[in-house]
Amino acid sequence: MLYYDLHIHSCLSPCAQEDMTPANICAMARLKGLDVIALTDHNTGGNLAACDEAARREGLLFLPGMELCASEEVHLLVYFPDVKSAMKMDTAIRSLYPAEKNRPEYFGHQWLMDSQDQVLGEEEGLLIGALAADAAALTDMVESFGGAAVPAHIYRGYGLIQVLGLMPPGPRFHAVELSLGQEVPKGCLPLHSSDAHQLGMISEREHSLPIARDIKTLLKYLIGE
Ligand SMILES: [Zn+2]
Ligand SMILES: [Zn+2]
Repeated sequence: MLYYDLHIHSCLSPCAQEDMTPANICAMARLKGLDVIALTDHNTGGNLAACDEAARREGLLFLPGMELCASEEVHLLVYFPDVKSAMKMDTAIRSLYPAEKNRPEYFGHQWLMDSQDQVLGEEEGLLIGALAADAAALTDMVESFGGAAVPAHIYRGYGLIQVLGLMPPGPRFHAVELSLGQEVPKGCLPLHSSDAHQLGMISEREHSLPIARDIKTLLKYLIGE
């Protein structure tokens, strides 16, 4: 059994609290008794390397991820086998950012961190906007880098079903994120993660997957292989 929280934002996401540093996130995840976490900042992998290092220190399995906002204003969690693959996606989506820059006083700061809580700089791109590519195109890109796409909080704002009204026939999503008790679309694997923007929101040891402690196995499980 692998106890997980696969949707966590660091202080690089403008909407997350500033103490959501990679070191704090991983220390809290270990305290909570989780086995695997994913960092999923909005439209960027800028803190993945730091979080990967911090997770290793805490003895956690780390799944590098992002939460992409597609042009339909749908949120997609995307996961990769390693930080290097995730950063290829990060580079690929930079040209899809909105033209305007972030306004920290309005949207919040976007801190780039190392694994020891040192600030490395601030991301200037506007991370909370929609990317200039739709969910199907983004899913194709993710798969080309060996990753998996999982629609986020499908019944909430920016969720696939909330926005589109149905599971689209295009990309074949297997895993979907939803809340406990919500209807699981036919044939889909339900995931329950926290979408934590503050440390206390990180999941307790309550949701698990019946698989071995290995990132490749986890990714395969998420795509239904
Ligand atoms: Zn979201
Ligand atoms: Zn989120």
